[in-house]
Amino acid sequence: MRIDVFTIFPDLVEGYASRSLLGKAQERGLLDVRAHDLRSETQDPHRSVDDAPFGGGAGMVLMPEPIFAAVEAVDPPRPLFFLGPGGRRLDQALARELAASDGFSLLCGRYEGVDHRVMEHLVDGEISIGDYVLAGGEVAALVVIEAVGRLVPGVMGNDTSADEESFSDGLLEYPHYTRPAEFRSWEVPAVLRSGDHGKVARWRRARALEKTIRERPDLIDARGGLTPDEERLLADFPE
Ligand code: SAH
Repeated sequence: MRIDVFTIFPDLVEGYASRSLLGKAQERGLLDVRAHDLRSETQDPHRSVDDAPFGGGAGMVLMPEPIFAAVEAVDPPRPLFFLGPGGRRLDQALARELAASDGFSLLCGRYEGVDHRVMEHLVDGEISIGDYVLAGGEVAALVVIEAVGRLVPGVMGNDTSADEESFSDGLLEYPHYTRPAEFRSWEVPAVLRSGDHGKVARWRRARALEKTIRERPDLIDARGGLTPDEERLLADFPE
């Protein structure tokens, strides 16, 4: 999968994407993240990319020429998404959709954002990583790349691990424990050490349901409430 990123800070994107899970995926040829400098095609001595807004007001706006020129010089994989607070909210479903494609591209805004002609005539869509305002799209681009990249087949060592995590079946994940079995007198739940895999699975499902009911009742509503089986599970495996 190829992901091209257009930014005034290509080193930030490259640095993060070259480490850990994403770095290994790139070394193994499963992922190809290419960061492009929005200043690369600028002609003036200051390599300017921004200017004051027409109509007045605070802040600067990224100009259309450098952005169009940088994108057109590369002809990157489409769709090209702008990262911005006004876009479709990133969630696991969108990450899965993007992970099923061969590639896409991301444009990072800065300052007040980009000239609107970029939105109208260059990009194919907009993605937001949440209802808050960042100073630039780079962190948001990395959030998208990491959420999508880890779902690309082969990137996570164990291909089944994506099936069991938060949001995979509309629930948050159950709690994890590792050694030691007792730490500062806090014990790992006995059921996890029982060796009874069926019981472990039911206990985990009960904990996942419980956490989702407590933290994200909207997710429970979205899946149409609890089934009679799930009600029973919660009664059989109280916290
Ligand atoms: N004036 C804009 C905010 C600009 S923030 C507004 O009020 O909507 C500067 C840049 O950060 C944006 O152009 C965008 O690329 C990025 N950004 C800010 N918040 C974001 C978010 N929630 N998700 C994705 N990108 C975001």
